[in-house]
Amino acid sequence: MNIAIIGAGYAGMSAAFDLVKAGHEITIYESENSTGGLARGFRDPKWDWSVDRFYHHWFASDNHMLGIIEELGLSDGVIFPRPYTVLLHNKKWYPFDSIKEALLFPGLGWGVNKLRFGLVGVYLRLTKNWQALEKITADTWMRKWAGAHVYEQMWEPMLIGKFGKHYKDVPMSWFWARIHARTTKLGTFKGGFQAFADSFSEKLGEMGVEIRLNAKVKSIKQNQDKNVSVVGENGEEKFDKALVTTSPKVMAKLTPDLPKNYLEKLLELKQMGAVVLVAALKHQLSEEGYYWFNLPKDDGFPFLALVEHTNYVSSEHFGGEHIIYGGDYVEVGHEYFKMDAEELMDKFAESFARINPKFTRDWVRKVWVFKADYAQPVPQLNHSQNIPAIETPLEGIYFASMSQVYPWDRGTNFAVEIGRRAARLMME
Ligand SMILES: Cc1cc2nc3c(=O)[nH]c(=O)nc-3n(C[C@H](O)[C@H](O)[C@H](O)COP(=O)(O)OP(=O)(O)OC[C@H]3O[C@@H](n4cnc5c(N)ncnc54)[C@H](O)[C@@H]3O)c2cc1C
Repeated sequence: MNIAIIGAGYAGMSAAFDLVKAGHEITIYESENSTGGLARGFRDPKWDWSVDRFYHHWFASDNHMLGIIEELGLSDGVIFPRPYTVLLHNKKWYPFDSIKEALLFPGLGWGVNKLRFGLVGVYLRLTKNWQALEKITADTWMRKWAGAHVYEQMWEPMLIGKFGKHYKDVPMSWFWARIHARTTKLGTFKGGFQAFADSFSEKLGEMGVEIRLNAKVKSIKQNQDKNVSVVGENGEEKFDKALVTTSPKVMAKLTPDLPKNYLEKLLELKQMGAVVLVAALKHQLSEEGYYWFNLPKDDGFPFLALVEHTNYVSSEHFGGEHIIYGGDYVEVGHEYFKMDAEELMDKFAESFARINPKFTRDWVRKVWVFKADYAQPVPQLNHSQNIPAIETPLEGIYFASMSQVYPWDRGTNFAVEIGRRAARLMME
């Protein structure tokens, strides 16, 4: 078959890998100037390694991703440095990414709360019954089983930070997926995620996949003779099948001929956007070497996560500079979407100084800002019943996105999984 894939993120590239291996002819259309999708990176001339636009890492349990990396022969590039995640309690930061550290965390006291926190964690690690958990919101379930104190200390700030006004709607299955499938060990690729995307796309090229960068698709339609037309900047081309890996909203726009009920399903899916500030500093911000700071918004922090990338991988890969991210999930239309990098820095600088009082603006050599409309799907109660099928009602047109990897939370690991699942369906 002659197949078009829209999007050179991990879903699109993984589908292309299996389809080309099976002998099909593949053309990938990518609107951006590099591959990797949301997990793309950028490189300042002063740096040897790239920095991810939106902080990224893998979990040791990311079997789909680590599996395809092995098939690609790129496992030598994967590294698992030991980073430290910290939580705030009474104006002090505490490491919180091992059982020992969780037991020592003073925010939960020593009594029944710590026991409830532990038991809930063990239950969610062990149970496989996410179907029961999608019928109840995380807010209700956590209040009942972990208790109000544990929930309000530990989990509610994270839910608010991620989902804003939607946080009370999110089903417990979303929480289950995070606790069930994640590890405290965090991995990355030597050279950054962009180095991996470049190696992946280079392999695809060697296997015969044609990857067209700066090639935005404008529309897709099914023809009378049962093939699919893809209309790009340079006109229309015909394929036997097409796989779209964009956001549901873009899919709906590209393919207006989809039947009404499928289109409605696409448009009813909810999502949060993300705005991330990246700054190159002359000095280390967290002198304790902490990597990930969970920032409670009710404590006056105007964003959710402060991540010091060079407390995870060495600053020697960045010409001795220290790289920090300030990231937040917000709805499209939020003021952060209108701000440039300097304006965001003005907004976030006070928080950086709360991490290290010595921080001043002259520490900052350069700032960048990255924005994504579709960054985090927001699942609803009984979400499994609302997921659009990968095989759309238009024969030959397939759709695979972050909103369909549920019950898992989005991530490059599940982009690989859904890309490969879509490839299998296309070959059936
Ligand atoms: C802030 C943030 C932090 C994250 N952290 C992690 C993490 O730590 N670990 C992890 O594994 N995952 C993380 N993720 C999630 C991860 O980035 C995604 O799950 C994954 O990259 C999705 O891959 P995809 O191929 O499904 O979609 P995408 O990566 O979105 O790929 C879709 C591609 O389609 C292209 N496209 C769109 N429209 C068109 C068009 N009209 N024509 C041609 N091309 C088009 C886009 O440019 C894009 O390249 C994070 C995401 C965000 C936003």
